[in-house]
Amino acid sequence: MTTSQSQPAVEIRDLHKSFGPLEVLKGIDFEVGHGEVVCVIGPSGSGKSTLLRCVNLLEEPTAGRIWVNGTEMTDPDVEIDSVRRGIGMVFQSFNLFPHLTVLDNLTVAQRRVLRRGRAEAERVARANLDRVGLSDKAGAFPAQLSGGQQQRVAIARSLSMDPKLMLFDEPTSALDPELVGDVLTVMRKLAEDGMTMLVVTHEMAFARDVADRVVFMDGGVVVEQGPPQEVLGAPRHERTRSFLSRVL
Ligand code: ADP
Ligand code: MG
Repeated sequence: MTTSQSQPAVEIRDLHKSFGPLEVLKGIDFEVGHGEVVCVIGPSGSGKSTLLRCVNLLEEPTAGRIWVNGTEMTDPDVEIDSVRRGIGMVFQSFNLFPHLTVLDNLTVAQRRVLRRGRAEAERVARANLDRVGLSDKAGAFPAQLSGGQQQRVAIARSLSMDPKLMLFDEPTSALDPELVGDVLTVMRKLAEDGMTMLVVTHEMAFARDVADRVVFMDGGVVVEQGPPQEVLGAPRHERTRSFLSRVL
């Protein structure tokens, strides 16, 4: 297995994905540089989640190649568990363990997967709870938290695994509007700290302010991509304009 720092954090080349006869991704190309934030936008059903899931092989691509931090994910001999360890993923649903405290939610995978001792895992967990502004919730159970707090715990849990890349799939879409801001604030801070992030979102203000590049997808293809001021501010394609007029 070859790895190289000169390669981008994520490189996607001519990615295709079909479910049976349904071709969902029809040749996707783009890159995410180290420390870059790329936001993927587009209508429902355009293939955004499938794309994200292909990056960490939750879905197996039908054709094309993907590299993450220099390792080819689409190499049949890839050590998938070890590469996936470097990729954090945050979904719309928070998927916390309901029977575990917040602290235990953050230490389980560290201990089982990274083989950290209890003291070390708890130290890392508390540092990441502090990062998402929830130091005081270590002993709480998920059901005692708001949706926004649960999502921040899910982010802290991902960060506790020391990911080099974070994937977000509409992390605020399930939240009541008044809870969205705190989650976006955490994500902004993460971006400022230099985390490499690939974010599927409908939050156009976040994409405009935080993204280095915006990728607009429709019907399984990248219609256009570029800096937010271009894609959101002066879109070149009618499909992009039409989408933006519906969401802005
Ligand atoms: P988006 O995230 O942009 O809303 P998705 O990637 O979730 O789009 O879905 C794109 C298309 O692929 C949709 O038509 C969806 O029904 C289909 N699809 C997604 N996952 C599966 C699956 N596991 N089996 C069959 N079809 C799927
Ligand atoms: Mg989706």
